[in-house]
Amino acid sequence: MRLVRLIANLGYGSRKEVAWMFREGRVTDPQGEVLYADDKVEHEQIRIDGEPLDPPVGLTLMMNKPLGVTCSRKDPGRVVYDLLPVRYRMRSPALSTVGRLDRDTSGLLLFTDDGALLHRIISPRANVGKIYEATLAQDLQGSEQALFASGTLMLESETTPLLPAGLEVLAARQARLHLSEGRYHQVRRMFAATGNHVETLQRTAVGALELGGLEPGAWRLLEADDVAKIF
Ligand code: URA
Repeated sequence: MRLVRLIANLGYGSRKEVAWMFREGRVTDPQGEVLYADDKVEHEQIRIDGEPLDPPVGLTLMMNKPLGVTCSRKDPGRVVYDLLPVRYRMRSPALSTVGRLDRDTSGLLLFTDDGALLHRIISPRANVGKIYEATLAQDLQGSEQALFASGTLMLESETTPLLPAGLEVLAARQARLHLSEGRYHQVRRMFAATGNHVETLQRTAVGALELGGLEPGAWRLLEADDVAKIF
């Protein structure tokens, strides 16, 4: 693939814009030698403004999704993709969220351009655990832990009961929930089934990958050892 097309596909600009980047001498090798559009160079040897080129596939990142933004691309309001650099939004293959969080849920949201990895994470067979922290409108009753762990809770309009889930009581109106599946609005519907209402909800971990100190709206690229923690 010609360098202009390769770099344009990674979202750095249109082919015309990337051609200009070459003319301006912004595309170099690691020693700072200017590269030309018809040079034959390995991906790893290309720098743009001195920075290594993004990987052609296998870009995976985590964000601390803030409240009030949606995971859909089509929503006319603010979407999570708006919080990423423009080139990540333009690249091909496209970067997608790995599953979704509701507009009113914050916390750990994964993105990847690697379709195989995405399916591996969301596949029910992978059994990737997720941890959520919820604050509730009313005090916990004491019966929720057993109900959620039972594997018999049937949510409205579902045809199979939920898998057993773990509940840690953090305070009278605060709980940590450990899920191994991801059904639509699952946490809110689980507490609704007990007569309660979720007031705030945050996802704090996917597998053993934790949100840590990432600020709301901030994101970071994941290394192979981060990705390994998911499984
Ligand atoms: N459960 C919910 O109810 N909402 C989310 O965003 C995630 C899990």
